[in-house]
Amino acid sequence: MCRIWKAAVILCAAAMLTGCAPQDASYERTEELFGTFVSAKIYCDDAKNAQAALDAAFARAGELECIFSPNIADSELNAVNAAAYAQDTAVSEDFLYLLEQSLYFTELTDGAFDCRLGELIDLWGIGTESAKIPTETECRNALLPSGDTTVSIHADGTVRFLDERVQLQFGAIAKGYIADEMKAVLDSFGIESGTLSLGGNVLTLGEKPSGDAWTVGITDPFSPGELYATVRVKGKSVVTSGNYERYFEENGVRYHHIFDPETGFPADAGLVSTTIIADSSLLCDALSTATYVLGAEEGMALIEQLDGAEAVFLTEDGEILTSSGMAEYELKQVTK
Ligand code: ADP
Ligand code: MG
Repeated sequence: MCRIWKAAVILCAAAMLTGCAPQDASYERTEELFGTFVSAKIYCDDAKNAQAALDAAFARAGELECIFSPNIADSELNAVNAAAYAQDTAVSEDFLYLLEQSLYFTELTDGAFDCRLGELIDLWGIGTESAKIPTETECRNALLPSGDTTVSIHADGTVRFLDERVQLQFGAIAKGYIADEMKAVLDSFGIESGTLSLGGNVLTLGEKPSGDAWTVGITDPFSPGELYATVRVKGKSVVTSGNYERYFEENGVRYHHIFDPETGFPADAGLVSTTIIADSSLLCDALSTATYVLGAEEGMALIEQLDGAEAVFLTEDGEILTSSGMAEYELKQVTK
């Protein structure tokens, strides 16, 4: 499967690039990638260019899925996880980039974002049929020392794990990277208007053909079929992490898929949804997960310290908290 995607990428890279003014004609495509639905809707007055742009954007997404998916047996991720404790392991440019970005976000978030949690995630199995609460000993054994001392990146670009328990996984950042890469492909075809949605992570290209902002809904964690709020953005990504995506319940307690790397248990810092708005979808993805772990106070302090990132948090008590620059995005609570 991975080979087919690569052939498609090469084929599409050879496509003629023509400009594309945003017009009313729209072209849509949805594919299942990374166990989630990836949809694109683009506006363009040249049908052939629009189709070529969608082919190339989805080919790039497929290529990245082959690198980062834990569910594709021969993915690069699985190969690196199997090899890198025993030996220095060569990785692709995309792999190295996302690993370096992940380690940067680990440092920025004081360890709340952690791409080394593969073993812990497998232990819990949340979202699989074998989901269970691990024993405290199992959990403790899977915890890793904080900081990036357990993953070495060498000058020649090879990677080595210094702790046997390190298993990389990019579940909290890969969709953001894929969205940014799909956008870059669409940009190269001159597409100026449209939206991408990757399992609820939204990236908007420019503005609507009418010149209006895009309205993006934020899922209500208390009623996931509905929205609790909307924002209006032009050319930004809007990414949400929540306790309703993947979870199981036991004795009235919900165990969801965002872990606190310090405890090895689902994060429980008082938030049920964290939304980040910024230019980079990768940054939004990493920080939506990290702020969920950090909680309202530390999470908001982190967002305030960054230029160009804004946040909306929903607390477990139903309170909406916003960062100081959110007014620009016309946050509106959905009344029910
Ligand atoms: P979603 O994938 O539902 O959009 P997130 O972006 O918040 O949500 O990513 C959650 C996924 O990231 C989990 O399913 C798991 O694979 C991984 N993960 C869980 N906790 C952390 C963490 N503290 N740091 C980095 N990755 C995490
Ligand atoms: Mg995330």
